[in-house]
Amino acid sequence: MELANRVQTLTPSSTLAITAKAKELRQAGHDVIGLGAGEPDYNTPKHILEAASKAMYDGFTKYTPAGGTVELKQAIQSKMKQDQGLDYDLDQIIVTIGAKHALYTLFQVLLNKEDEVIVPAPYWVSYPEQIKLAEGKPVFVDAQEKNEFKLTPEQLENAITEKTRAVIINSPSNPTGVMYEKEELEALGKVCLKHNILIVSDEIYEKLTYTSTEHISLAELSSAFKEQTVIINGVSKSHSMTGWRIGYAVGNKAIIKAMSNLASHSTSNPTSIAQVAAQAAYNGSQQPVSDMREAFSERLEKLYEWLVAIPGIECVKPKGAFYLFPNVKKAVEMNGFDTVDEWVTALLEEEKVALVPGSGFGAPNNVRLSYAISLEQLEEAARRIKRFIENHQ
Ligand code: PLP
Repeated sequence: MELANRVQTLTPSSTLAITAKAKELRQAGHDVIGLGAGEPDYNTPKHILEAASKAMYDGFTKYTPAGGTVELKQAIQSKMKQDQGLDYDLDQIIVTIGAKHALYTLFQVLLNKEDEVIVPAPYWVSYPEQIKLAEGKPVFVDAQEKNEFKLTPEQLENAITEKTRAVIINSPSNPTGVMYEKEELEALGKVCLKHNILIVSDEIYEKLTYTSTEHISLAELSSAFKEQTVIINGVSKSHSMTGWRIGYAVGNKAIIKAMSNLASHSTSNPTSIAQVAAQAAYNGSQQPVSDMREAFSERLEKLYEWLVAIPGIECVKPKGAFYLFPNVKKAVEMNGFDTVDEWVTALLEEEKVALVPGSGFGAPNNVRLSYAISLEQLEEAARRIKRFIENHQ
C-alpha cells in the first residue's frame, strides 16, 4: 500500500525503540534495568484519582468543548497567575491531549510549506517530526556542551532567515536537564522580538527543578515577551499523569482559536474525566509534587556522582527534569566501538542496562539516562555501566 509522502520520512521514537527492546529481554527472563523511561515512577496522587472517579460516576462522560472545559481552563488560569504571575483570558487557553498534542496542533496552525522553526540541539525527539508533519522545516542549531547545551543569542541570530517563524525553548530540557537563567532568556527574547519570531516555550518540566535556579518563562519577563510567546505545559510530568493525556497551550488569541478549531475537527475534546482529574491536580494539594521533586533531587545527586566517577564519562550537571545526558565519547572509544549506538546496544545485551542513544536527540556523543526509577536500581545500573566499560578496555 502506497502511503502519503508526509509519513514516509517519519522516524520512530528512539525512546520507544529502546524501551521495546528492554521489554523483550525482560520477558525472556533477564533482569533489565531500564533507564529509558520518559515518565515519573510515581502513581497519580489519590485525590486526583478520586476526583476522576467521582466525575465518571456523576455522569461527566460526554463531549466537552473541543478546547477544554471552562472549569479546567479556570484552574489553568489560576495556576498561571499563582506560579508565574501571568494573566491570561480564557480564550487564550486551550486544553489538549497531552503537551505533545498542543505542540502538534500549534505547528499545524502556524506553519506554511517550508516555514522554518529553529530547534536547538539536543532536542526532544518529537519536535522535528511534528514540524515536518506541518510541512515546515526544522533548523537545527547545535547548542554547545561547553555552554551547558544552551542556545546563545548569536547562534539564534545567525540561524534566522526570512522564513523563520518560531524558535523552541525547552527549559528544563529533555534530554539535557539544563535550565535557562533569566538573563539568558531575556537575550534570546530580544532577538525574537527584533525579528518577530514566535517563542514556543515548552515548560512541561517546570515543576521538576533541583537547584536555586528558579524556573522562569520568557513570558514572565515583559509584556512584549508575553505577547510573543506560546507556553506549552501540562500535568503529565508534574503530577505523574502521563497516561491521562492532558496538556495545554496559552498565548495569542488568534493562535489559540485556530488550534481549537483544528481540534474540533480532528480530536474533539480531551477525555472528559481526565480534564476533571487535571482540574483536581491544579486546585488540590501540591504536596505530592514537592515529595516527588525531593525524591528526584536525591536521585540526581547520587546518580550524577556515580556516573562522573566512571572513567570515560563526562556530564553537564542537570538542574531539572529527570534525565542525565552524559557524553560517553571517550568511553566508546576506549571500549573500541565505532558509535554510541553500538555501545548502547552492547551494554543492553551484556549488562542488561537500557539507555537511550543521543543520536535521536541530535547529539551522537551522548546518552540519555532517566532517573525515574528507584535509587537501588540506579546504583546497580551505575555499577553495571562501570563494569561494562572496564571489561571492554
Ligand atoms: N515536551 C517534552 C520536552 C517532553 O519531554 C514531553 C514528554 O516526554 C512532552 C513535551 C509531551 O508531554 P505529554 O505527555 O503531556 O504529551
